[in-house]
Amino acid sequence: MSALHDLLVRRIALTGPISVAAFMADALGHPQHGYYITRDPLGAKGDFTTAPEISQMFGEMVGVWLADCWINQGCPDTVQLVELGPGRGTLMADALRATARVPGFHAAIRLHLVETSPALRERQAAALSAFDPTWHDSLTDVPDGPMLLVANEFFDALPIRQFIRTPAGWAERKVGLNGQGQLAFTFDPTPGGALLTPLHRDPGIPPGAVAETCPTGIAIAGEIGRRLASHAGAALIIDYGYDGPAIGDTLQALRAHKPVSVLDGPGTADLTAHVDFTALALAAKQTGAVPYASVEQGALLTALGIDARATSLSARANPAQQVAIQAALTRLTSPASMGRLFRAIAITHPAAPVPAGFGGST
Ligand code: SAH
Repeated sequence: MSALHDLLVRRIALTGPISVAAFMADALGHPQHGYYITRDPLGAKGDFTTAPEISQMFGEMVGVWLADCWINQGCPDTVQLVELGPGRGTLMADALRATARVPGFHAAIRLHLVETSPALRERQAAALSAFDPTWHDSLTDVPDGPMLLVANEFFDALPIRQFIRTPAGWAERKVGLNGQGQLAFTFDPTPGGALLTPLHRDPGIPPGAVAETCPTGIAIAGEIGRRLASHAGAALIIDYGYDGPAIGDTLQALRAHKPVSVLDGPGTADLTAHVDFTALALAAKQTGAVPYASVEQGALLTALGIDARATSLSARANPAQQVAIQAALTRLTSPASMGRLFRAIAITHPAAPVPAGFGGST
């Protein structure tokens, strides 16, 4: 059990069950006991690994994409370069190194890191101090203006609400207490279906089905869209997810790279939910920006030139490094690995050309 477990048990005993979103928000972000607040969870010794931690090629390709957007929108003199949830700062450090020779790009950049974890802010400061970053708790605090934004495995960490289909309609799933006073899933029988999409209102959906929505993610996508509607720029959002709406319980917990029960030891395991890219795209579109249909991570990285980059890195590497480069390339791009499970959407200013690696706008 955990300190946060005891605190949540006491709170629920006093005031009743809490939403899955409230549980997730505390498990990940509680000011004293939140998972991200108290540790650096990344890497082999942590709980999970992300694409930028697998290979420098990932951040380099993102850098290529960002610089290309900057050039094809007329090289604005000043651009807010924003990363949401930068982890150890690895992606951004690789992206900036890869773009060091793009004329004028670094001079135009103002680097903004949106990060709530003090532990990870320290890691980011160590990786990115040469670029004089400014940290923010929220995207709304970043100054307005032309913007290039990237978010990798950020939206999957935002709190979701879950709804369960009951014979009487949709009910919100909650976290309450069982007979032994332990955390347990329950539901609020007051109808909650109005919050869901038309698909979820389909009377054919069987009892027991679970539907999800991520209000915080939708609000942030709306804020990205609002900024890109009135200024030049582009956003690249990469995560594991799907083109919704869909039915299914995607909430999962990982500790030491292994799945554990979601309610087990809140604050001591990573919690994530799959991202509904359609919902994010719609939120951005409603505020006047242009979202592009999601593409697979493998296809995007290939379109950006990751194969050529692997070849040129290998030419300067020893045999053991060459094996590692090839393994990382396969892991990032192969459909059997991260290449298909992970997807990306782009959002741009309405007058911007189609960004590299994307096809039709939605
Ligand atoms: N992008 C990095 C890290 C992914 S982990 C990578 O690919 O390696 C998720 C990141 O989002 C962490 O940096 C975490 O501290 C941050 N984060 C999670 N919830 C957040 C929130 N609500 N606001 C800001 N940052 C958050």
